[in-house]
Amino acid sequence: MKENIELRVCKGCDAPLPCSPESESFFTKGRDICDDCVKYERESKVKR
Ligand SMILES: [Zn+2]
Repeated sequence: MKENIELRVCKGCDAPLPCSPESESFFTKGRDICDDCVKYERESKVKR
């Protein structure tokens, strides 16, 4: 039986990434932004 993977478009990188199920989720740290972007934002702190 296949799990239903839900995709959500990240506001940071505009890429559709899985948000469900939780084991596949890229949105554990933010609802609209993926973990990679969250991590990147925290590390670089780039402001325009
Ligand atoms: Zn992202």
